[in-house]
Amino acid sequence: MIYLDYQATTPLAPEARAAMLTWLGEEHFANPHSPHRMGRAAKAAVELARDQVSALLPPGGRVIFTGNACEAINLAMRGCPGSGPIAYSAIEHPAVRDTALALGNAYELPVDAEGLSDPATPLQPGTRLVAVMQVNNEIGTVQPSAGWYAAARAAGALFLSDAVQALGKLPVAEANLIAVSAHKLYGPKGIGALWVRDGVELAPQITGGLQEGLRSGTLSPALCAGFGAAAAAAQVAMAEDAAHVEALWRHARALFAGWELNGSASERWHGNLSLRRDGLDVARLMSDCRQVMFSAGSACASGSGKPSHVLRAIGLDDAQAKSTIRLGFGRYTTIDEIEEAAAMINTAADAQ
Ligand code: PLP
Repeated sequence: MIYLDYQATTPLAPEARAAMLTWLGEEHFANPHSPHRMGRAAKAAVELARDQVSALLPPGGRVIFTGNACEAINLAMRGCPGSGPIAYSAIEHPAVRDTALALGNAYELPVDAEGLSDPATPLQPGTRLVAVMQVNNEIGTVQPSAGWYAAARAAGALFLSDAVQALGKLPVAEANLIAVSAHKLYGPKGIGALWVRDGVELAPQITGGLQEGLRSGTLSPALCAGFGAAAAAAQVAMAEDAAHVEALWRHARALFAGWELNGSASERWHGNLSLRRDGLDVARLMSDCRQVMFSAGSACASGSGKPSHVLRAIGLDDAQAKSTIRLGFGRYTTIDEIEEAAAMINTAADAQ
């Protein structure tokens, strides 16, 4: 089995697994919000994890643990003060896009054919929140986040950065609100966080104890510890991981020379290879290459039958969008795996 779906989720790092196992131990079941000795020990593990995650985020804010990034994004968007419109880029993850559409009074910021947004795009008067992701999950393009933060500030709006695909890989961009998720940086599924810049006031969306200040619910020390350990490992490995991904990217690009690349080659996280080939039947390709775990478009869009809104936003027609595959690789991918997968995929595609 060759796993090439790192944008959907990443393998659990051994460091994260070890930290989690400690907090799944028989005597480590206390509620981290209890004031007794066992509770305080669990709370200390949560706070260590908070520090480890915070170390990957800008100074001057606080980390609020959530169940995942979708919840963090919902807290940011639904809890954001004011009644003005919300601006979001045309390639946002459904966590942002669907929330904006559900809230109403929202408008899209276009991207160009390279999958890049432009912070010079005019914002509507009274815009209260601008949401532009740092790294796109389908095509890997890296957005000009610093420009958007400045543009939002100039317009009197808050800037929300969905940094789910960036955390632990690239330095996270400055923003007012940053959403992240443990399972995209070799941590466990079931925990994310919202970073909130000091001075930003949000309305809680889940009430019932407000253990996290803005968010209610008993935290899992095991999940927090896993997230923290994964963040600490990513901080140590960031440069090495990036160099490894660069080497895989160069190799993979040569092996898939006959395919079109979706999105910018340069303004991109190189662990994402979104490729298309005219007339390709992706469902057939996937069933012919069952040993390779990869995705059609994105994990969210694949299976729905609908062409991806991201691929449509960069100007692809339905047929081109549907002839796209996404290969995602990272820390544990080997050159041999890339070669083997490319041979299987190219053979199957050539046979169509
Ligand atoms: N934002 C982006 C860019 C993502 O890739 C994902 C996950 O696919 C999410 C948000 C949602 O993250 P989670 O699975 O933690 O809810």
